[in-house]
Amino acid sequence: MIGFEKTVKHARILNPLKNFEEDTITFEYRTDPLTGRNTTVIKGMLNYVSRFLTSDSEALNVLVEKTRVNCPFCPESVKTKTPMFTPDFLAEGRIFVGDAVIIPNLLGHAEQSVLAILSREHHLKLREFTPKLLFDGFKGSAKYLKRLSQVEPQIRFPAFVFNYLTPAGSSIFHPHMQILARDRPFHLVKLLMEKSQAYYASNKSSYWLDLTSKEKEGERHLLETGDVEWLVPFAPLRGLNEVQAIVKGKSNLLELSDREWRGLAEGISKILEFYHNQGYISFNIILLSGPLNEHLDYFDVNLRMMSRPGIQPFCFTDAWALPYFLWDGEAVEEPEKLAERVRVFLKEKKK
Ligand SMILES: [Zn+2]
Repeated sequence: MIGFEKTVKHARILNPLKNFEEDTITFEYRTDPLTGRNTTVIKGMLNYVSRFLTSDSEALNVLVEKTRVNCPFCPESVKTKTPMFTPDFLAEGRIFVGDAVIIPNLLGHAEQSVLAILSREHHLKLREFTPKLLFDGFKGSAKYLKRLSQVEPQIRFPAFVFNYLTPAGSSIFHPHMQILARDRPFHLVKLLMEKSQAYYASNKSSYWLDLTSKEKEGERHLLETGDVEWLVPFAPLRGLNEVQAIVKGKSNLLELSDREWRGLAEGISKILEFYHNQGYISFNIILLSGPLNEHLDYFDVNLRMMSRPGIQPFCFTDAWALPYFLWDGEAVEEPEKLAERVRVFLKEKKK
């Protein structure tokens, strides 16, 4: 059974902003229902850090123009400046689907490190990531994975990663997604698979199925898009507008049909529109898969996305020691409050 456990703690201070009156700060220690990892929810923190999350539009524009000059991913350079697959892997050298171009990475992060260039535009605002653009990128990447599974079936753990703009860790401005594939899972995937298997063994049911049915219609649920459920996690990993998606009943990326790829694309596009509406310009996404060549009843393909700080001369980063080194989670707002804000936005948009 899934439990949502939290403990509330308080700190008392004499607050200089309130004429040194006694003030109480509230912390919630929340336990991730699958992994047991702690995330501390700090009420009022979003308001406190919000000045670092906005962007200086002039600084952003300068960077857009500066990086456009020698960008290898812009349409005029993509065929002359980007790597190609070797002929034994793919005779055509690159995969094209709509505006998406799939290429090997020049210097990657795994033995199979591939990029999906998503757009002909050098820079997109977050509301300009359309479902079609994301869907084409996914379809091209799925084509690559299919070829990979034929040529090198032992490389069976893929993860899709978006780092959009420098605050999200990207060195290239032009919108793109990474496809990383290895013979061994990334640490988080391994942990989730192990914990999911243990849950299955003791509960005789899938954690992911139990989670989606428990959260459905609840205070953290956001929407459903073609068999993909969207929610705000009870104990976020990083906690800045973090959203989770679960592709129901599919354990690896090669099992996904167009309906599910479209569901992911539509959901991402909607959440990015929400981020845009809140003034954000940068984000990360991870899309996690079980092993390619087998179906796991206890694991579902799942996604996490979050907004990142803005571009400003102050160079603030939210990648500080607590999440980086101490491996704890921290959320700057109650997940239920974020879910409410997203739901209100989606409802307003429909009108
Ligand atoms: Zn470009």
